[in-house]
Amino acid sequence: MLNIVLFGPPGAGKGTQSEKIIEKYGLTHLSTGDLFRKHLGEGTELGNLAKKYMNEGRLVPDEVVISMVEDKINSTQDSKGFIFDGFPRTTAQAEALDVMLEKNGMGISGMIALDVPEDILRERIKERGKTSGRVDDQDDEKINTRISVYLEETFPVADYYEKQDKLKKINGVGKIEEIFSEISSAIDSY
Ligand code: AMP
Repeated sequence: MLNIVLFGPPGAGKGTQSEKIIEKYGLTHLSTGDLFRKHLGEGTELGNLAKKYMNEGRLVPDEVVISMVEDKINSTQDSKGFIFDGFPRTTAQAEALDVMLEKNGMGISGMIALDVPEDILRERIKERGKTSGRVDDQDDEKINTRISVYLEETFPVADYYEKQDKLKKINGVGKIEEIFSEISSAIDSY
């Protein structure tokens, strides 16, 4: 069982690289951002709850995210493993994830962290905003909030995995295929 945390700031390329990882390794994609957007589109109670946080670029409260992830893990059968994309985003989420996986006889194989400088992130997010239709991709203030939330609340999650010797940093600037090749080497070493 291969369980990977794909980590990095908004605009680092987690979604793009996740698609390639899934194709090559047959893992189950668990993107909390995608799950929230699905709930939002379907107008569920969870979607309505998450909406105000998402539209402002703030984090949805831990307990809400954790129970959504737990439902997804428990309802997925016959998986070769998960690629966690956009989760965990706080140390409390990382701790809860370990507990959830342990209950199912699993653990995290490793964290792959994509490193991209802030000016490139801003450019990429705005470029994506032209086609993604995401309000949080289009407004400078919301983009600023997302980047500072990442630095203050999410960045420390890398330490959590580094302490367990599970962190692998990869340069997220360059050709998609080259970045993917580095990611593949990291995955193959697990
Ligand atoms: P993303 O597509 O990963 O950038 O997520 C979009 C938005 O969904 C974020 O800005 C948050 O408001 C919310 N979100 C996604 N994942 C999480 C998470 N793990 N914890 C808290 N909020 C999240």
